Amino acid sequence: MNDNMRPQVPKKVVVVGGGTAGWMTAILLKNSWAETEVQVIESPEIPIIGVGEGSTPALKYFFKLLGIEDEEWMAHCNATYKVGIEFPGWSTIKGHESYFHPFFSALDSQTSSAFVKQVGKWRMGEHVNVLPDNYFVASALAKHNKSIKTERPLPVELDYGYHFDSVLLGDFLRLKSVESGVLHDVKTITSVKSTNGNIISLHTDDGEVVTADLFIDCTGFAGVLVNKALKRSFHSYKSELFNDAAVAIQTPKLDEHLSSKTTSIAMSNGWRWHIPLRSRDGNGYVYSSEHITRDEAEAELRLALGDIAEGCKAKHLDMKVGRLKQHLAGNCLAVGLSQGFIEPLEATALMLVQYTVTSYIGHVHQESTQKDFNDKISAQFDGIKDYVVCHYKVNSLDGLYWQQCRDNEAISAKLKAILSAWRSEMDLEAKTKQLFEHSSYAKASWYSILCGMGVHTTAQKNTDFGIDPLTEKAKLYCEETAALFIEQSALFAR
Ligand SMILES: Cc1cc2nc3c(=O)[nH]c(=O)nc-3n(C[C@H](O)[C@H](O)[C@H](O)COP(=O)(O)OP(=O)(O)OC[C@H]3O[C@@H](n4cnc5c(N)ncnc54)[C@H](O)[C@@H]3O)c2cc1C
Repeated sequence: MNDNMRPQVPKKVVVVGGGTAGWMTAILLKNSWAETEVQVIESPEIPIIGVGEGSTPALKYFFKLLGIEDEEWMAHCNATYKVGIEFPGWSTIKGHESYFHPFFSALDSQTSSAFVKQVGKWRMGEHVNVLPDNYFVASALAKHNKSIKTERPLPVELDYGYHFDSVLLGDFLRLKSVESGVLHDVKTITSVKSTNGNIISLHTDDGEVVTADLFIDCTGFAGVLVNKALKRSFHSYKSELFNDAAVAIQTPKLDEHLSSKTTSIAMSNGWRWHIPLRSRDGNGYVYSSEHITRDEAEAELRLALGDIAEGCKAKHLDMKVGRLKQHLAGNCLAVGLSQGFIEPLEATALMLVQYTVTSYIGHVHQESTQKDFNDKISAQFDGIKDYVVCHYKVNSLDGLYWQQCRDNEAISAKLKAILSAWRSEMDLEAKTKQLFEHSSYAKASWYSILCGMGVHTTAQKNTDFGIDPLTEKAKLYCEETAALFIEQSALFAR
């Protein structure tokens, strides 16, 4: 298939890889193209990565599209609801030591405009309160460990995300995929025959020769098809995102207390996550291997977790940050870690899997070019990457790692433009629209991070918060709305 040929619904698709990306891809394709033969081949010897426990609200729409209710999949995956991410310790500026990045919802329309108004005043040096925590219902719900989902259905669609056991999620999707007609083969691909960027056939360890109209590489960081066989070019994010390793430790639950937020806490050379599941907690330290060794990282994580982590096994992982220049070329599409990875600070990887596959289906139906498709996916990757990089660029912490993140001039021109617009009191809304039109992170997210971390403008004399009636009103509205949700039996995180 070359770029001039009209894309067609494939008759046979082979997905290589049975991690979350492989099964999400298979079930989405089968759901759209019932007549297409979809086969997943996964190796019995090569394990899945087995981490990745947080989502954005996109996952809600994934299950909605498939007609699968929360109750069904969440019970299988020990999942909990997530209303946003708390970021403690990323800033030393008074009043900004911790902030909450909420999932926004229709409930926030009034208070978000108050937020924007206050931010405008604050950027001009007025003494008002702009901590995002005060302006969004999700933050108020998180304080009570509650989700935005109620037992009774609501008249409006509200966004929320989830935490889940990644191994169980893959397992659940496999069962559902097979139920919907996806074929499943457990064998290892040992070689790939290709010509001019097109795959001719895959060869398995038991001698089978596999052909298809479309091959999808979901083999994780290895990239067995796109990297090893087709040698596609990789656009690294390493100069912008220093973190290239992680250590994860699962700890037991001590009590029934279930939080509805992810906590992402700054560490000496990176950050650590805390993710609450029904059955256990997930923890992990994402760090730069140039700044700290794996033993030091593990020791720092264990120290932070305390006695609860005693005897719990640590899993060390390397991370390759960046993306392919071509996600789709010829008859092979890459999805998941084989396609690219932005470190997990905003838990966006599965959202990108979903985005890539649904965009691919759109590409086929709209008969767009492979170039248009690749540009669209790359723009989404780069937009998220810039938002993640911003957390590091605007930090105010001590230590070589944090200093180097702050001083890093290798950040993108777009991020530089956003930061200089912010600092010079230019209209940020116009700038984010112009530069990140299709990105998942719009104005409210940029305001949340820049205000949350206390990033100064030139007009600001100090970042202290004043007490202001508009903030008090917004805070009260959020608390009262949260109370109403709790009264109407907002579900606990589970
Ligand atoms: C530290 C860390 C934290 C993360 N946190 C999050 C998060 O909070 N939220 C989020 O959305 N994502 C997160 N991610 C990303 C997430 O883990 C992955 O996107 C997700 O698990 C999908 O992985 P995958 O399916 O692409 O690859 P894998 O899980 O690695 O699966 C690869 C599959 O390919 C198969 N395979 C490999 N080689 C062959 C072969 N030769 N023949 C046949 N089969 C083969 C393997 O058997 C396996 O089934 C995180 C990642 C890391 C590293």
